Amino acid sequence: MSARIIDGKKIAAGIREEVREQILRLHEETGRVPGLAAVLVGEDPASATYVRTKTRACQEVGIASRGITPPGDIAQSELLQIIHELNLDPAIHGILVQLPLPKHLHERVVLEAVDTRKDVDGFTFANVGRLVEGQPLFVPCTPAGILELLDREGVAIKGKHAVVVGRSEIVGKPVAFLLLHRHATVTICHSRTSDLTAETRRADILVAAVGRPRLITGDMIKPGAVVVDVGINRVDGKLVGDVDFESAVQVASAITPVPGGVGPMTVAMLLRNTLRALEQSIRDS
Ligand code: NDP
Repeated sequence: MSARIIDGKKIAAGIREEVREQILRLHEETGRVPGLAAVLVGEDPASATYVRTKTRACQEVGIASRGITPPGDIAQSELLQIIHELNLDPAIHGILVQLPLPKHLHERVVLEAVDTRKDVDGFTFANVGRLVEGQPLFVPCTPAGILELLDREGVAIKGKHAVVVGRSEIVGKPVAFLLLHRHATVTICHSRTSDLTAETRRADILVAAVGRPRLITGDMIKPGAVVVDVGINRVDGKLVGDVDFESAVQVASAITPVPGGVGPMTVAMLLRNTLRALEQSIRDS
């Protein structure tokens, strides 16, 4: 058996086109366009690449993006002031603070400074709380993209056993809650899980968000499972996931590749969240 490959790149392109059309319509009706501010502190090359990808995607769909690039040694109070000004700026509907921040900055304090209504990454405590409660405002982009992939591929979630490997705030925990709210029975695994294989082999839907190249091998997967590989790891200059694709593809019924699976969905969800932020601000005004 060879698994169906879930084409995240194609699905994400479809969503971007939907967002583009909705922005065009909204602009015709209201004269307004969504604005996204991307705050990139310092010069980390990987972060700079992510921000470039996101701002380019914004331009393609008609979101006005503004790059803000304070130096890596900016004082926390100055960074908070920048965010405060963006919170008040009527042309900005979404604010993203690219992580990780330099060590001298307190990540939680900085994230909490973002107005909940502009928190298109869904990282503020208020948005996390709403997600846990099942009434999300903005869902973090990668977990939102995973659910969107499953839905658009027609994967049934209700009553299924979902196993999430990884418990980070930005992927593992939120995706586990999203699956729970859709009535999956959810197991969350982490580095202290005593028998990872026993857990993953029970999964109808297996989400790997670990950051360990090819950790999940075919023998750890239940035959016919749907496998979502969130991992992005660079090995010998090549991008590989947290799933050993070659062995997993023989066992799973469907699988996301790396690259071209979850990654493009993350960007598409950021665009959609930014559009929703503008729509919400129009409703509130
Ligand atoms: P984190 O490093 O924040 O979390 C990794 C999680 O994996 C932790 O909960 C950790 O457990 C767990 N873990 C580590 N080793 C093992 C192990 N041997 N067995 C079981 N669990 C383990 O990573 P992120 O969630 O931020 O990212 C995960 C991966 O997804 C990375 O490769 C990252 O690059 C990628 N990513 C991809 C995105 C995309 O758009 N496609 C977006 C975001 C991330 P513990 O909590 O006990 O330490």
